[in-house]
Amino acid sequence: MADPVAMTPIPTTESPEEKFREFLEIRGEKLTEPRRVLIRHIFDAHKHFDADELVADLRLAGRQVSRSTVYRTLRLLVEANLLRELRLNNRSAYEHDYGYPSHDHLHCSECNEVVEFCNDGIRQLREAISLEHGFRATGHRFLITGVCQACSRKRSPRRRLDLI
Ligand SMILES: [Zn+2]
Ligand SMILES: [Zn+2]
Repeated sequence: MADPVAMTPIPTTESPEEKFREFLEIRGEKLTEPRRVLIRHIFDAHKHFDADELVADLRLAGRQVSRSTVYRTLRLLVEANLLRELRLNNRSAYEHDYGYPSHDHLHCSECNEVVEFCNDGIRQLREAISLEHGFRATGHRFLITGVCQACSRKRSPRRRLDLI
């Protein structure tokens, strides 16, 4: 078993803002002020967030960006490979893709917590399966769903005693 690897951002030559500007230019679009505010806010810290959390977060920070701009910009950032979309139950969560190492997730269905991990075994399995099918893998998604330790303890206090 591989040890969990700490997620350290990968150094990039271009800022996410520059990458996004180039992506938009190719499409004949501009990096407008609300989009600039959004990308700076999003790339401030790595986390998993959904569109509504982002809207609430922007409001708290006193930044005025309309909900429709948020939704549209999130879609564009995914297309530009700056953000990665995760399907968690029936919602979409987003996280940095650009400048961040590839990793997988555990998702707690009770408290919604998302935990990141890296496992070499999964990557090797991906390569082995791809080889078998003559496939060139460029990525994969692996999501473990279930109940985290804290929520399991809350649910059945007796089981906690069994574990000791
Ligand atoms: Zn939980
Ligand atoms: Zn993640």
